[in-house]
Amino acid sequence: MIELTSLQNVLFVGGFIILIVVMAKIMKNMALHWQILFGMAVGVGVGILASNFDWGAEAVKDWIKPFGTIFINSLKLIAVPLILASLIKGVSDLKDIAKLSRMGGRTIGIYIFTTIIAVTIGLVLVNIIKPGKSITAETRQELVESYRGDAANVKNVADSQKNSGPLQALVDLVPDNIVGASSSNGNMLQVIFFAIFFGIGLILIPENKATPVKKFFDGFNEVILKMIDLIMLAAPYGVLALLAALVVESPSLDLFKALGWYSVTVLAGLILMVVVYNLIVFGYTRKKPSFFMKGISPAQLLAFSTSSSAATLPVTMERVHEHLGVDEEVSSFVLPIGATINMDGTSLYQAVAAVFIAQAFGMDLDFMTQLGIIATATLASIGSAAVPGAGMVMLVIVLAQAGIPEAGLALIFAVDRPLDMCRTVVNVTGDATVSMVVAKSIGKLGEPKVKDWDDNYPPHS
Ligand code: ASP
Repeated sequence: MIELTSLQNVLFVGGFIILIVVMAKIMKNMALHWQILFGMAVGVGVGILASNFDWGAEAVKDWIKPFGTIFINSLKLIAVPLILASLIKGVSDLKDIAKLSRMGGRTIGIYIFTTIIAVTIGLVLVNIIKPGKSITAETRQELVESYRGDAANVKNVADSQKNSGPLQALVDLVPDNIVGASSSNGNMLQVIFFAIFFGIGLILIPENKATPVKKFFDGFNEVILKMIDLIMLAAPYGVLALLAALVVESPSLDLFKALGWYSVTVLAGLILMVVVYNLIVFGYTRKKPSFFMKGISPAQLLAFSTSSSAATLPVTMERVHEHLGVDEEVSSFVLPIGATINMDGTSLYQAVAAVFIAQAFGMDLDFMTQLGIIATATLASIGSAAVPGAGMVMLVIVLAQAGIPEAGLALIFAVDRPLDMCRTVVNVTGDATVSMVVAKSIGKLGEPKVKDWDDNYPPHS
């Protein structure tokens, strides 16, 4: 190992601080996604530059990489409270069990159905395209070597699973202690179970007792969303650190080629999913794809630019009601729940990302593990908040449950933001699709109020 002299340390840290200050100035008026792309580019630049000095890699590992680790940790830190807040709020928004049994049951059933289709499309594509395998055996070996510790843990988990009975997954779903369950990101399914159970309890108790609790979780949810906002402020620097470290640690162009294939896989899946929506809408409601896509397109554009289904919700509701002919009674019930729990784009991405990371680490996932990914990606997308980057936070569960090293998150960070924008478009389109199907099934799908596609954007209210 090359020892850094104190002069090199001082020069490196000084240069880095100047770089950050200049970056902050340049990014002042940039939109967040540009900031992040900029951070990524600078990170790659710093990594490449540092690779040219024999002490560079060490300096990046000592002085830059820790910020990437802090950034990923802060995302993981909010995963448990995020599920608690967003799921309890989502379930209790169903208001009463009678309503739940008619519209709610149907809505949730179709939501889960489309999500499973999405995950399956993702899994099929990632197994056919195999984006992670385009990393050469050498690079893969390098990566596997550096994450040997994780691999050992994974093996232990896999071994213990092998020794357990067929119903163990079901037993594992129910925690015996919620504080204990919340203490590890690997137990996230248990937290999801608790949140849903709690939400149902909340629906069943008298209104006057439930209201303060609901209000608390409403506020709690807001706080969590704000925390994500704050974390996202650091995102350009976080990705800079992650990418710089990635470049110096695996100085191989293969990785970026492999990321290209990974992105192509996710995008192909997302496009296929939009085709599936159009087929569902046409098959069930006889509304043409041109009608559906034109009606919902402003919401899709907003979803693309905000990366948040929650921020897009008012526009989605307006378009679905006024331009697609869905009765307000249905749209106001189905869409807010959908924004919280129905994330087909996110689940598809989580499935592809999980298998991609496994492939990159040279792990072969057997059929049962892939079935497990369908279950966890479905649940993880339900638990993902409708805000930028939430899908990636929840990806941790999918990785943990499938025994894939969480460190692999660093591999996909580089392209996460653009993919987030695209998967959010699919999330919103999925919500609109389901609201049309539910409306049709209970006779609440009529003619659109507004037929001129271009008006009313942004919405009047
Ligand atoms: N940004 C996505 C949404 O709001 C969630 C995610 O996949 O990160 O729908």
